[in-house]
Amino acid sequence: MKLIPPGATIGILGGGQLGRMTAQAAQSLGYNVHIYAEHADEPACQVTSFKTLGDFNDETQLKKFADAVDVITLEWENVPVSTIEFLAKHKPVHPGATALKITQNRVAEKSFAIENSVYAPAFAYAGTLDELRNGVMKIGIPCVVKTCRMGYDGKGQAIIRDLKQIDAAWESLQTDEAIIERFVPFEKEISVIIARREDGVMQAYPPVENRHKDGILDETQAPAMLSTQIEEMALKSAKALAEKLGVIGLLTVEFFVIDNMVVMNEMAPRPHNSGHWTMDYCATSQFEQLIRAICGLPLGSTAITAPCMMKNLIGDDANDWQKYLNEPNVHLHLYGKAEARKGRKMGHVNKKV
Ligand code: AMP
Repeated sequence: MKLIPPGATIGILGGGQLGRMTAQAAQSLGYNVHIYAEHADEPACQVTSFKTLGDFNDETQLKKFADAVDVITLEWENVPVSTIEFLAKHKPVHPGATALKITQNRVAEKSFAIENSVYAPAFAYAGTLDELRNGVMKIGIPCVVKTCRMGYDGKGQAIIRDLKQIDAAWESLQTDEAIIERFVPFEKEISVIIARREDGVMQAYPPVENRHKDGILDETQAPAMLSTQIEEMALKSAKALAEKLGVIGLLTVEFFVIDNMVVMNEMAPRPHNSGHWTMDYCATSQFEQLIRAICGLPLGSTAITAPCMMKNLIGDDANDWQKYLNEPNVHLHLYGKAEARKGRKMGHVNKKV
């Protein structure tokens, strides 16, 4: 395993808040950070003077970026696989193309989980309206229809509770690649973040509970209140997936908890919103852990220092920033976004409970 020591330059694909917080953690460890993004005012671009601007298909700009860095990671799992394959010819890219190919597509992701003995909701694929009709009959209602690719924060999905809703659901998705999933009447939603180095060493964060509002993560409670059996099942499943995917860096796995079982919903090979609490109430933040993993450094302790809640500041919520500064044991993180649009993640607070 190659050690990439402090002083080297980390390249990050993507300019959003996850890239910004990864950059800040890398800088604390003494690394330089170079961002590849479309626009200079994106959150991650604001925290470093090293950046290359371009789209993800611009090979001239990508080559310049690769030449300027020692190792590359990403903050967005939908970076085209062809971009990763191109960059990997020049510099190590973690996570790599294989992990991305699987996690970019909900059918590939769920098939992969099942092949590796991790439960996932029953599902079917639909490329046409007719296939959707047949798929809904097979899976049964209620069911959830989602675009196979590019869905996030509840976008690109519809719940079908009545067969009459099928045509409208197909119309709303605007896709020719959909997944139909059995609706899981879950008791809780949880997630696990695993760090994995090139030599296979792994370190897991404790499972946390996630609560959503309007399809967007609203609050994360760390740790989640779970039976030992559920906790062990979640950790074992997440570790198996990280290992089999060969992830170097971080893998986040979201699960539904139901009937004393965990059922995988989604995976993302990157830092995750449900790991933001680690910035203030864990021995090592998820962002620092990512840097440790891709640079071949020892992985840090994932011990919780105090039970806590992370709350996202979405849209106008961020206007309350002053209120949070007056509360003890509350840590405010804002992402430097100029415009507080509805549904836009502007920042978060971590609060000891
Ligand atoms: P996703 O984009 O797949 O993470 O879905 C967003 C949210 O929709 C999840 O966090 C769940 O709250 C809900 N959801 C997604 N899939 C299902 C399902 N198969 N059954 C029940 N709820 C679901």
